[in-house]
Amino acid sequence: LTGCSSDDRDSEATPTSSGSAAALPGFPADATIGVALPQKTSENWVLAEQLFNDGLKDAGFKPIVQFGNSGVPEQQNQIQAMTEQGAKVIVVGAIDGSQLGSQLQAAKDAGAYIIAYDRLVKNTPAVDQYIAFDNFKVGELQGQALLDGLGKLKGDKPYNIELVAGSPDDANATPFFEGAMSILQPKIDDGTLKVVSGQTTFDQVATQGWKAENVQKRFDTIMSANYADGTELQGVLSPNDTLARGVLTSVKQAGQTEVPVITGQDSEVESVKLIMQGVQYSTIYKDTRELVAETIKAIQAVQKGEQPEINDTKSYNNGVKVVPSYLLEPKIVTKDNAAEVYANDATLAPLTK
Ligand code: BGC
Repeated sequence: LTGCSSDDRDSEATPTSSGSAAALPGFPADATIGVALPQKTSENWVLAEQLFNDGLKDAGFKPIVQFGNSGVPEQQNQIQAMTEQGAKVIVVGAIDGSQLGSQLQAAKDAGAYIIAYDRLVKNTPAVDQYIAFDNFKVGELQGQALLDGLGKLKGDKPYNIELVAGSPDDANATPFFEGAMSILQPKIDDGTLKVVSGQTTFDQVATQGWKAENVQKRFDTIMSANYADGTELQGVLSPNDTLARGVLTSVKQAGQTEVPVITGQDSEVESVKLIMQGVQYSTIYKDTRELVAETIKAIQAVQKGEQPEINDTKSYNNGVKVVPSYLLEPKIVTKDNAAEVYANDATLAPLTK
């Protein structure tokens, strides 16, 4: 963790062309395309469902878009069924990035092209490409936002903070946390920040299933054990908006009146409102429309037998290979720039007026 920067984070990874020079066979323009989404743990996934259904139909394909609501076995079965139905591309937002190897291998053996969407698929060669917002960058932006927000507080250092990470089965949770810690760890080491609970490792701060109730339980305990004597919690690294709101509920219930500086991600409607009210400090904007559009562009390329566009061939090693990636730029959002960042988003722009 410590000292991990965006430049050296994949030093073990061997760059590979991953066969990207080879021509693809192509497939009929009205083929079935499978999209296996995880659970509805945040608004972006719900939006993706609709965008994939509409976008794939508009492009002439037959979409099968499904959520693995009840967990990993359901998602495994869905991918198997998509393969049996002849899906030519399978887009997968994995619930557990390490548990789809055999289903994706079977899909590949049947001739499907596999795209890891938003979340990396791990420990399998059966993934052709990754399309996502740069997750490590998301974490860096969150870490920097927390520092910026704390810097606006009056009072002496150290600032009292707590850390939160996402679900351990989600391949994104680690790069989010490592990106953030690449910014925060030096400030913990030099005494600017103090993690009062002492909980600083990924395992200590992870939140199973990205569930607000789980982070709330953890913070109820943290607040009564470490802050009941009037010590003020001044900052919280939260990996997304759902968890940020869970933390804020717990802090409030514990009786603290000052709202800590808290980060988030996803630009969920409720959190954007809180940002405009000065309650939540920051979030991240990852435009789902852009991510789905890029994915459909890649599918159209594969359909024609062309290689989809790749802009990164070193950052995302899945344990077996470096997965050729198309990475989009996440944006940090605070009250100061919300109107500008959301200007072209019909849902969010009105909230900034
Ligand atoms: C996504 C985040 C989201 C989280 C929980 C992650 O894989 O990248 O945007 O907040 O899942 O749904």
